[in-house]
Amino acid sequence: MKVRTRFAPSPTGFMHIGNLRTALYSFLFARHAGGEFILRIEDTDEKRYVEGAVELIYRTLKASGITPDEGPGIGGEHGPYIQSERKSIYLEYAEKLVELGGAYYCFCDKARIESLTDENGNHKYDKHCLSLPKEEVERRLKAGEPHVIRQNIPTSGMTEYEDMVYGTISVDSADLEDNILIKSDGMPTYNFANVIDDHLMGITHVTRGSEYLSSTPKYNLIYAAFGWTPPKYIHLPPIMKDATHKLSKRYGDANFEDFIAKGYLPEAIVNYIALLGWSPKDDAEKMSMSELIERFSVDGISKSGSIFDEPKMKWLNGLYVHEMDPEKFSEYSAKWYDKSVIAGKYDYKKWDALLKSRIDIFSEIPEKVEFIENFGAYDVEMYRHKKLKADPAAALTALKAARAEMERVEKFEPESINEAFARAAENAGIKKGLVQWSVRLAVTGAAVTPGGAAEMADILGKEETLRRTDFSIKLLEESL
Ligand code: GLU
Repeated sequence: MKVRTRFAPSPTGFMHIGNLRTALYSFLFARHAGGEFILRIEDTDEKRYVEGAVELIYRTLKASGITPDEGPGIGGEHGPYIQSERKSIYLEYAEKLVELGGAYYCFCDKARIESLTDENGNHKYDKHCLSLPKEEVERRLKAGEPHVIRQNIPTSGMTEYEDMVYGTISVDSADLEDNILIKSDGMPTYNFANVIDDHLMGITHVTRGSEYLSSTPKYNLIYAAFGWTPPKYIHLPPIMKDATHKLSKRYGDANFEDFIAKGYLPEAIVNYIALLGWSPKDDAEKMSMSELIERFSVDGISKSGSIFDEPKMKWLNGLYVHEMDPEKFSEYSAKWYDKSVIAGKYDYKKWDALLKSRIDIFSEIPEKVEFIENFGAYDVEMYRHKKLKADPAAALTALKAARAEMERVEKFEPESINEAFARAAENAGIKKGLVQWSVRLAVTGAAVTPGGAAEMADILGKEETLRRTDFSIKLLEESL
């Protein structure tokens, strides 16, 4: 039998990390088995519908390389793939379920239902309408009385199933309620639609969050009432914000597009998310989508929650950034230079060469280049360096010699600039290291820079380098 999995998001807002992980595992499981991955939009809860959320789901899946074989806009033999377009299907099956005894019509009004509280204040429907005579039900339906369809759950006995991650799950029917399957507006609830769709769409493995572990027996009772075989279940551990709190949709940053906006790469996010609750046997960490597909297996899924650790995701992103093709790096970095103090100045490509190995995420770029424009009044005491035997007086000598040689350089680039430094050192009878140290400080005002003196001078260009050197010479002269 061909494996068929599905991702069934509700369009209620952001595509948060937990959703994306469910999509990813479902996709990886299907692809690993050579099966099919289906996208289904579960939009039957109109109250929770958020404008634009469906488009966001499509966009996110596309950007992260999780590509459905069937779904809205893609097509397939089991469509439509948007639940609100399947309303009549659910109704037809609900009526069938009533005939089979697995469900019944309920006419109870809100006031009656609210009065049904137990000693703990919990509502539990009392099966009142289950015992209505058939003729009465028919009469009231004909008269157009508002009604819902409820699941008829046995009052006693255990329901059990095997979850592929969590093992045997058993629930006492007495703890379950006759949930609504079809609402008074004719729309199905999740409780019903998920079963009908998973069955009609030929889903063999259901992958979803562990919050559904204990309601699954209810769904299995519906499968049983229809005489259908339920799918296999792969419930996924929660993703935690810390040891005690689940990552929630409200935890603002934990959604895909926000991470992209922060300068993360989609492939690194996907890679990191793959590790949130699963690990391959050899504990490998950096894996491409095709490696993930090859290695993914249910054995590696853990039962306990995993903590979402942004610094780790950042580190992983860094591995991708450092290995990136320089051309691709430039495509990503450009917009971050444009947002920085060097926007429109200097040659971005020269910065790329210096920063590629020094950043983990692209949003670090603005702060990394900031120093270059902070040049101005700085403290000449900065020129002191024990090992180089540097102090303001030695720096002044070095700078004067360097200035004279730099001025003579025609093709101003790192190699020729370094040669100028070597000549300057020789002329002044000092170490080249002292020249480089002095020039770097003189043209940037910073002791730590992503490149050496020659690289900094190259980025600034000859004119600006000489201007800044002159400024620093003057500053030193005034201080001595
Ligand atoms: N629409 C449900 C959700 O977003 C899907 C649960 C499932 O995969 O069955 O939580």
